[in-house]
Amino acid sequence: MKLPGLKTFRHGVHPPEQKSDTCNAPIRQFPFAPLLALPLGQHLGRPSVPCAAEGTPVQRGQVIAEADGDFSVPLHAPATGRIRRIAPMPGIAGRMVPAIYLEPQPGSTQEVADATPCPLETATPDEILAAIQAAGIVGLGGAAFPTHVKLRVPEGRVADALIVNGAECEPYLTTDHRVMLEQREDVLLGIRYVLKATGARRAIVAVEANKPDAAAHLRAALDPGGPVSVEVLGVKYPQGAEKMLIQALLDRAVPPGELPIAVGALCINVATCAEIGRLLPRGRGIQERIVTVTGPAVVRKGNYRVPIGTPLRFLLDHVGTQGELSRVFLGGPMMGAAASSLDISLSKGTSGVVAFGTEDARASQPRSYPCIRCGYCVDACPMFLNPAQLGLLARNEAFDRMADDHHLMDCFECGCCSFVCPSHLPLVQSFRVAKAAVRKANKP
Ligand code: SF4
Ligand code: SF4
Repeated sequence: MKLPGLKTFRHGVHPPEQKSDTCNAPIRQFPFAPLLALPLGQHLGRPSVPCAAEGTPVQRGQVIAEADGDFSVPLHAPATGRIRRIAPMPGIAGRMVPAIYLEPQPGSTQEVADATPCPLETATPDEILAAIQAAGIVGLGGAAFPTHVKLRVPEGRVADALIVNGAECEPYLTTDHRVMLEQREDVLLGIRYVLKATGARRAIVAVEANKPDAAAHLRAALDPGGPVSVEVLGVKYPQGAEKMLIQALLDRAVPPGELPIAVGALCINVATCAEIGRLLPRGRGIQERIVTVTGPAVVRKGNYRVPIGTPLRFLLDHVGTQGELSRVFLGGPMMGAAASSLDISLSKGTSGVVAFGTEDARASQPRSYPCIRCGYCVDACPMFLNPAQLGLLARNEAFDRMADDHHLMDCFECGCCSFVCPSHLPLVQSFRVAKAAVRKANKP
């Protein structure tokens, strides 16, 4: 469906936005938990390697784990305190993962010392990318891909346009919205760093039409005819997915299995851009991130600047919950992951915490029925796949046929098919299992 007058992509869905509880809530600082638990693998790629021993006192902002090679980033202490232990902790998927436990020092001022800055005017592109890695910056929209790797333009390719993703199409989440309103200068400075690092000549900030205040606020600070513009897009899920953004804004299709740079585009989340603009001039690293804490079961919903490593249990106790909790999503309910327990902690990729009680969960997990061949899932899929056929093959565990004949690996698990299915078939869940099986089978 094409919305009149606004750019968008074909197919997709319109889930209830559920943003009104927090979109006007200014960002507030969250307190330190008595013990922070920092997984070493908070990003895609190789986990960080601890460089501070158990029992060592550390300063807020100090590197406590170093990057393990290029496809990795360091980890900075979110608080002044002491390394209590280096030991496994529960990860989001339920497996134990290596981690650093840090005990914040009570009553400390928690000031962060500035380190070696990366000056925009004199730094080379390579120096900017190195500074982004040194700051521990990864994609804050949820993917947690190391940003310096993502922004590196391969030999023989040219970045023509940088798309700054402020679409935030996922229901419930309002962190990017608040960042655009409250950290405009950081966003714009971050864009200047990224333009210089990548050689892109123009940047387009993509904002969905349900955030007109953010679009107007950004536009008010732009030079007419300058390299940065703001585009307002139709409100539709998953508008914020990279391929959908590129299609809507540049009318270019990223070929299957390729990255956006194949069509001259680079995408970066707006909050990631703001962190680049906030941290690089001071030589600091990421120690906290903005998180929308919301959902029917949360009492004090809002947008909070939360120290990395804050335990989920502490976070929910602090904002208050009502009734018995059933499901807690990290990220939104469409593409986020259900937390395996409340003993996990918030990491750099956690954009939201959405908590549901038992009654809400019962309503959202109805019984499944056989496929009635209505075709709604086919009309919804933004990748033009046939989810009904894929679902049938998944039930028969015909994973090879799904991949070879039905483009399973093009599915990016947006959940549109499951959302529209009147038979309530767990389509996207079965595609996740199938993709994992294909990847495992193809591993050398
Ligand atoms: S989850 Fe996959 S198959 Fe389903 S709509 Fe999204 S891209 Fe298409
Ligand atoms: S939406 Fe559900 S019931 Fe309809 S064709 Fe797709 S899988 Fe079958």
